[in-house]
Amino acid sequence: MSKLTSELREAFRAADLRPTAQRYAVLEFLVSGRRHSTAGEIVRGVNRTGSAASRATVYNSLRALSRAGLVREVFTGGSAARFDATLHPHHHYICDLCGAIEDMAWFEVPAPAAARVLQGRHVRAYEVVYHGACRRCRNSKSGRGDI
Ligand SMILES: [Zn+2]
Ligand SMILES: [Zn+2]
Repeated sequence: MSKLTSELREAFRAADLRPTAQRYAVLEFLVSGRRHSTAGEIVRGVNRTGSAASRATVYNSLRALSRAGLVREVFTGGSAARFDATLHPHHHYICDLCGAIEDMAWFEVPAPAAARVLQGRHVRAYEVVYHGACRRCRNSKSGRGDI
């Protein structure tokens, strides 16, 4: 069994979600294929890997995976929802100019600061989303061309 396969199986087990073939294919695509995909891209991607799945099946799988906490929506501010696996916690950087979504290394928001603003609210999950101009866009704008 590959490292990815055992990691995915363990994630399903930990989330107490039955790993149907379609759910497994969707999660595997998000982990190893293209991250931050729209539902449409996931449908195309999953079907390319050979596990034929209808649009409705993929949408149902996405819903089940989201409910179980294995997949979440990335808050891009764009029109189409983009999905991300939650197996490895990370923050996001979104470029206002080219729309690129980059994973950022995880760090904890300092507890005293969080406690101050949360004022007793319970937190299930959180992420930091940075917005701005990515390195590529900044480089091409300044004309240095050192991409
Ligand atoms: Zn950019
Ligand atoms: Zn991500």
